[in-house]
Amino acid sequence: MIGGRIVDVGSADAIEQWHGPATAIVDAGGRRVVPGFNDAHVHFVDGGTELENVDLKDADTPAELARRIGERARAKPGEWILGGEWDDQRWSPAELPTRQLIDDRTNGTPVFVSRYDGHMALANSAALGRAGITEHTQDPPGGAIVRDARGLPTGVLKDAAMEVVTRVIPKMTPDQRLRAVKRALGHAASLGVTSVQDMNPSYDDVAVYADLAARGELTARIYAAPMETGWYDQAKLGIHRAFGSPWLRIGAVKGYADGSLGSTTAYFFAPYLDAPQTRGLLSDEMQDIGQMRTRLMAADHAGLQLCIHAIGDAGISQILDLFGDIVRANGERDRRFRIEHAQHIAPKDFDRFAQLRTIASVQPYHAIDDGRWAERRIGGERIKTTYAFRTLLDKGVRLALGTDWTVAPLNPLLTLYAATTRATLDGKNPGGWVPEQKITIQEAVVAYTAGSAFAEFQEREKGTIARGLLADMVILSDDIFSIAPARLKDVKVLTTIVGGRIVHQRNP
Ligand SMILES: [Zn+2]
Repeated sequence: MIGGRIVDVGSADAIEQWHGPATAIVDAGGRRVVPGFNDAHVHFVDGGTELENVDLKDADTPAELARRIGERARAKPGEWILGGEWDDQRWSPAELPTRQLIDDRTNGTPVFVSRYDGHMALANSAALGRAGITEHTQDPPGGAIVRDARGLPTGVLKDAAMEVVTRVIPKMTPDQRLRAVKRALGHAASLGVTSVQDMNPSYDDVAVYADLAARGELTARIYAAPMETGWYDQAKLGIHRAFGSPWLRIGAVKGYADGSLGSTTAYFFAPYLDAPQTRGLLSDEMQDIGQMRTRLMAADHAGLQLCIHAIGDAGISQILDLFGDIVRANGERDRRFRIEHAQHIAPKDFDRFAQLRTIASVQPYHAIDDGRWAERRIGGERIKTTYAFRTLLDKGVRLALGTDWTVAPLNPLLTLYAATTRATLDGKNPGGWVPEQKITIQEAVVAYTAGSAFAEFQEREKGTIARGLLADMVILSDDIFSIAPARLKDVKVLTTIVGGRIVHQRNP
C-alpha cells in the first residue's frame, strides 16, 4: 500500500520488489484478510448518540425499562432522556409500555425513548406536556397516537406522530454532535467497518463529516443520503450521485414508502393476521403519491441517486411503480435505484425488481430478529418471500448488505452469521428460519464489500483487494470461508486498515 491505495497484490516474493527502507510490514500471521466491510445503511449519528444514551435494548421486563430510565433521571434531572431501543417483543406478555410506567420515577424530566425499530417511541407525561399532546390531539397523517380505553394517550407514538415530540427536543449542540460522530467512528473501526452509507443525516451531521474529512480525521468513508424532501438543496448546486472525495460523498437522497413490520406500519396488500384492522401505513411523504412522484422524478433528473425505504409488499410495489415511471420519463441511465430493506416482496415483483436494475439494500440481522414473531404477524405464505436474499440473487438482483444501525448491531460478523444461518435470536430455528432463503458466506461477503460499493457507485474504488483500489481491509481472527457458519458470530476483527492506515488493532 502506498498513499492510501493498494499498489500490488501477490505472493511474498512478488511483493518484495516494493520493499524499501520506509516500508512497514503488517503480518497477518496467515489469517484471513478481507476487504473492509461497507455498511450500506446506517444512521451514524444516532448510533454514536446511542452509545452515549440510555440503553434499553436488553431490558427484559417493563420494570427493568422503568428502573434504567429512573436511574438516568436521578443522574441528570431535567435533561431529556433519549435513545432507548426497547423491544416489547422480549416481554411476556408482549405489550406496549405506557407513560404511567415511568412517570413517578422521572417527575419533570422529559423522556422520549424509541422502540428499537425507530417506528414507535414512548413519551412520559412531561414530554407529552411539552409537545402539547392531549386526548384532543388528532393523529397526524402517517402516524398514530396510541390511546387507552378512556381515550387518553398512553405515551406511545407511532411513525409521523413521533415528530410532534421530536420537534420540541432541543437540538444537539455542535459539540455533542462531534462527540457522537467520534464515538460512531471508533465503534466502526473496532468492527472492521471501513465505509458507511448514512441514511437521512441532517445537514449538520454532514457538516461535521466534512470538518473531520478536511482534518484527515475520518476513519471510515461516508456516503450521505439526506431526506428526499430536500432534494433541491443538492440539485441546485449541480451535485450528482457520489459527488465528493474518497472520504465523503453526497449526491443521494433517502425517502420512505412505509413503516416497519414490528410496528405494524409496513404497508401490505393484505391485513396483518394479528392486527386485522390494518394493513399498515404509507409514510407521510407518500400520502400524496403525485407529489412524491414529482419530487423523485426531479431528483432523478438532476442526477441524484434514489434510496427508498420500503418494507411491506405493497409499499415495495408502489416504489417499483414509481421507479418505472421515472425510467419512462427520464430515459435509461446507470442510475442504480435502491430499495432500502426490501423485506417482504410480492412474488410477482421479483422480476420487476431485476428489470428495473434496482439494488436491494438489505439487513440480514433483521431476519433473525423478526423471525421470532413474523409468522404470527403475516402468516406462512408471506414469509416465503420475506428477507428473500436467495430469490433476489437468483433473479439477478444485486444485494448491498448493512445493518440499519442502530436498529441492528453494527457488527458485520453478526450480519454474515444471520445471512448464512438464518438462525433466529430465540434459538428456535437452529436450521434456519425459511432456510431456503439462506445465502453462502462467499455471496454474503461479496454483497457486504463489492455489492455495497456498487450501491454507492464506488466499485472501481473499493470493495475488493486489487491493484489501484483504496487500501481498506481487515484481518479476522478466523477463516470465515472455512469455519461452520454457526461460529461466524464469534469471529473477531483483529486489525482494521483504512486508506493504508491501521485504525484498530486488538490482540488475538
Ligand atoms: Zn434506516
